[in-house]
Amino acid sequence: MAKNMIQFQKGLSLPEFLSIYGTEVQCHQALFRMRWPNGFSCPYCGHTMYCELRTRKVFQCYKCRSQTSLTSGTIFADTKLGLSSWFLGIYLITQSKDGISSLNLARSLGISANAALRMKHKTQQVMKEREEIKPLAGYIQVDDSYMGGKSRGGKRGRGASGKTPFIAAVTTTEEGHPLAMKFNVISGFTKQEIADWAKKHIISGSVITSDGLGCFPGFEEAGCTHMSIVTGGGAASVDIPDFKWVNTMIGNLKNAIRGTHHSISRKHIPRYLAEFCYRFNRRFRLGEMIERFLWVAARTVPMPQRLLKLAEIQW
Ligand SMILES: [Zn+2]
Repeated sequence: MAKNMIQFQKGLSLPEFLSIYGTEVQCHQALFRMRWPNGFSCPYCGHTMYCELRTRKVFQCYKCRSQTSLTSGTIFADTKLGLSSWFLGIYLITQSKDGISSLNLARSLGISANAALRMKHKTQQVMKEREEIKPLAGYIQVDDSYMGGKSRGGKRGRGASGKTPFIAAVTTTEEGHPLAMKFNVISGFTKQEIADWAKKHIISGSVITSDGLGCFPGFEEAGCTHMSIVTGGGAASVDIPDFKWVNTMIGNLKNAIRGTHHSISRKHIPRYLAEFCYRFNRRFRLGEMIERFLWVAARTVPMPQRLLKLAEIQW
């Protein structure tokens, strides 16, 4: 049997991680390098000379005298946790295929369940914002899917009450190997909603394959070539090669959420989808993932609890 290259690729082992980011000092230095790769620059006036006020752990600009902490203006702003806890948490979230539940994160880091949940949501928010600016292009398999709702009784699948609709898209090579994917919650499967989603998330000129659901011609409105394959639905449609990867990925997502998180509340679904896609889309670069994540985290605006709550309501 052929070796699964993803399964056997070299990641960043825990001892390797700890040798680079194991102490508070190492994490501070790493974040400083990420945030100011060309040396400190005052966020207010751009001046590069500063002194370090050790008592308050801030950098004071020589010119305008304003004070900046290492974490202010980043995802780590106002955190009560040490950066080494944050870095280890990010390691645990990014390196495992199916992620880690906030409860497991709390146990592994020795922090409270609430602190772990906040860490998880902030981390997911960084991933979500990163994923949102990366549109898909090329050959794309698309399907409609649903999360949550009643598992027994009631209507199943399309149109079922209490379920959260999301669109699943997987780009493949011309030969049909998966490259990248994007899962987004949408308000419903209408032609307009699909057109709006595609304009934001798909480069025009892409070739979309979907089933015959009435809303999917909305892709043409976004400048894509759309091919619909009428499947008749049901289990048989899963085996159609044109949908193989999108169906596999939807299955993997649902298994991961069932296995790792058991259930997730409706308002958090968009971030969990983004986390799943973020990891998949960077699966060939496991070793670099921490550093790349930190680079973005140092440039992602702070998200106090209030804003996280707001973001939950807005989607
Ligand atoms: Zn200044």
